[in-house]
Amino acid sequence: MNDPLYVSRPLIPELSDLTALLQGVWASQQVTNEGSLHNQLEVALARHLEVSVAKLTCNGTAALQCALLSLDLPRGGEVITTPLTFAATAHAIMACGLTPVFADVDEVTLTLDPAAVARAITERTVAVIGVHVYGTLCDHVALRDICNAHGLKLVFDAAHAFGATLEETPVGAMGDLSIFSLHASKLYNTFEGGLVTSTDPVDSQRLRLARNFGIENEEVVRSVGINGKMSELNAAIGLLNLQKYEEERAVRSALRTAYDRIVERFPGLTKQIRQVGVKQSEQYYMIRVDPVTFGAGRDKIYTRLKDFQIFSRRYFWPICTDFECYRGQTIYSVHEQPVVEQVKNTVLCLPFHSGVLPHHVEAIDAVLQELSGNN
Ligand SMILES: *Cc1c(COP(=O)(O)O)cnc(C)c1O
Repeated sequence: MNDPLYVSRPLIPELSDLTALLQGVWASQQVTNEGSLHNQLEVALARHLEVSVAKLTCNGTAALQCALLSLDLPRGGEVITTPLTFAATAHAIMACGLTPVFADVDEVTLTLDPAAVARAITERTVAVIGVHVYGTLCDHVALRDICNAHGLKLVFDAAHAFGATLEETPVGAMGDLSIFSLHASKLYNTFEGGLVTSTDPVDSQRLRLARNFGIENEEVVRSVGINGKMSELNAAIGLLNLQKYEEERAVRSALRTAYDRIVERFPGLTKQIRQVGVKQSEQYYMIRVDPVTFGAGRDKIYTRLKDFQIFSRRYFWPICTDFECYRGQTIYSVHEQPVVEQVKNTVLCLPFHSGVLPHHVEAIDAVLQELSGNN
């Protein structure tokens, strides 16, 4: 039997490199609270992502919360977002005393549909959070226009889009703030970690307050904040993984091409779109399955792959409005039936990392061949 193959595999630095880097931390005994490795990593990430502000946090959820807290939005305000995302996006809104409101996704990109956002706006709306889901970039220009017209803040959950660019625009420069998860499941990771980016230097201090209890100095607590700080251990991993990550990204880029060639042979399977002018983050490889045309449904593929120890993921089914805490909430849409309600049953993410070997790709091809109508 083969070893199990999972949808992601963490990028991990050499242990000897890590211990070497930690010598200084052990000597200085500054292990957290904007330590020297932490500060080096912030500088390196700001340069790498081509943004003026890059503030590290202990995880992506804390990055979302720090971003929202730094915007000082009125309590109870509504934040429009997509239900086709990881639970953290909606939960962070709630945890900040705000109300998530769900809007539909675009049929082609599966990102927040600007027309649906326009429908969801009320006098209580204070912000919009778009998600670059699977690394497919949101229509940031259309969302910006809507937000400007209504005086709303625009935040991007870029947890899947580290390092992506749209022509000259780096992903972290879209909207007012962007957040990244540096969790082990993400291509560029610090085991646990997060990041908020901005192009406005004013945000730097606000984000530092938000991630450190709102403490300005020994005597002054300026605003509501959380403990969202990253430790030196995680920063050390981040510095080392920053050296390794482009190589992993290139391997995944080649794997995307290999998968595309297989997927396009099957009527009823749709490969993830390649957006014009976009350099992909290579976080996920997502396909959509039309059960009638293909001859079998998404869940059949998911289950059959398991027989070969290949564990794909049905991201993001269930969607947020299927969770008990948000169940029954409206999904604002320009269609009679929200696009996302159909999409959630057709999406499948295949294992996507340098541990995926030619025999794995062949096994996936064989499963698709077996289940498709045309064998
Ligand atoms: C991973 C992820 C997060 C949460 O990040 P954590 O680092 O796990 O807290 C938020 N949003 C999306 C879309 C994610 O995929």
